[in-house]
Amino acid sequence: LMPYLQDPRLVRELAYINGQWVHSQSDLPVFNPATGDVIGHVPELNAEHATQAVDAAQAAFGPWAGLMADERAALLLRWHDLILEHKEDLATLMVLEQGKPLQDARGEIDYGASFIRWFAEECRRAYGDTIPGHIAGAQLLTLREPAGVAALITPWNFPHAMITRKAAAALAIGCTVVIKPARETPFSALALAELAERAGFVPGVINVLTGPGKALGDALCADNRVRALSFTGSTGVGKQLLQACAGTVKKCAMELGGNAPFIVLPDMDIQEAAKAAVAAKFQTAGQDCLAANRILVPQSQYEEFLDAFAGEMARIRVGNGLTAGTTMGPLIHRKAADNAQSLVDDALAKGARLFAGSQQAVPGEHFFMPVLLADVTPAMRVFREETFCPVAAVLPYSNTDEVLALANDTEYGLAAYIFGHDQRLIWPLLQGLEFGMVAVNSVKMTGHNIPFGGIKHSGLGREGSRHGFDDFSNIKYTCLGGL
Ligand code: ADP
Repeated sequence: LMPYLQDPRLVRELAYINGQWVHSQSDLPVFNPATGDVIGHVPELNAEHATQAVDAAQAAFGPWAGLMADERAALLLRWHDLILEHKEDLATLMVLEQGKPLQDARGEIDYGASFIRWFAEECRRAYGDTIPGHIAGAQLLTLREPAGVAALITPWNFPHAMITRKAAAALAIGCTVVIKPARETPFSALALAELAERAGFVPGVINVLTGPGKALGDALCADNRVRALSFTGSTGVGKQLLQACAGTVKKCAMELGGNAPFIVLPDMDIQEAAKAAVAAKFQTAGQDCLAANRILVPQSQYEEFLDAFAGEMARIRVGNGLTAGTTMGPLIHRKAADNAQSLVDDALAKGARLFAGSQQAVPGEHFFMPVLLADVTPAMRVFREETFCPVAAVLPYSNTDEVLALANDTEYGLAAYIFGHDQRLIWPLLQGLEFGMVAVNSVKMTGHNIPFGGIKHSGLGREGSRHGFDDFSNIKYTCLGGL
């Protein structure tokens, strides 16, 4: 790993607890998904380490929360600046453990850092309210107070930004954090800890645990001192974590799976729609909770759309994320590639049409080449599941009622896309779509300034924006009587 980086000290093969870089009796390998090579090792920590991290975070909480907002903001901004100074190294490290193209990794560092700046600014405006009274001789107020120690459990698809999006909000409002990154991508998290240490965060404010998700997650959920849990990952694991947090009644923010519909309206230019659909589908090789999972096209333009989509899809260049010209990297594991194949097999067995596949040779066993399936139906797994792979599922519809019913026919409710112009069609869809986020005529929708989050089985809470503090803080109502 180190020869790739200008600053090799960003590669830490140790976990970070109470300002100490710690090891354990056993290590876990970390793989480069493009090659299958082991790129390094991290400690396999256990429940005791999780308790030590919470001890440290709890001890650091009072002093951290007691700082002036300006003081916390200054540290956060120093961390932000160091991240951007080391952008190239952080992006390279991310490609090596995650696989995405270098250009995308650079974009993720910018995106991730933007949350730190945003919340550094927002914490200076974390106002409470004064409430017009109903009790004689009393002044009524609310204060916004940090929840306490926050546990942050994050996935491998955005190894940098899913950490900063949570940590920036938590830290800015005055929480201390215990971060548990995905087993697949610990190095991005540890590099963030290294830069936080350089920025001057005192021991205990930021801790990073590496090791088995279940054992560490269970220990964090069971610990009564952890007052908030923010998780991004699969819906299945999110449900387990919610159950695990019931015993200690934590605040839970859950950013879970998605099954985004991508609705093309009849007045949309088909080339443009196909280009947008390809962009919305194949980002991060389809391993994105915002990925356009079900592409719904008017019957009258259906075949034309399929041709245009196949043409756009053929431009994707699959390969090692560090190779110039690559626009799509590998899947995270061999298992993910096998799952992609089983989704295609299931759809074909149930009558889907294999409209197009890639002409390029498969660059390795962790790769899965883009596939376009037509004539998908709600009976197929590609329709029902969050596919998390580069398999595009297209189906025709004949009217607005039908497309709305198809779009909402999922337990998920994260993001939806609409492409078209007629506001008389768009507005009823905007109202009827059961999703936390809807983008009209735009593939890009995320940012530090917007409330990211889902409804139904896609989650609880919102990240980023002025709502981003809610999951890490409590409102304390005070009735100051006897005046
Ligand atoms: P993905 O599909 O993105 O791998 P997961 O939900 O499996 O999503 O993983 C997201 C995060 O949850 C990772 O940090 C992983 O280590 C952690 N994790 C996985 N299983 C559990 C579990 N049973 N309890 C707590 N955390 C878990």
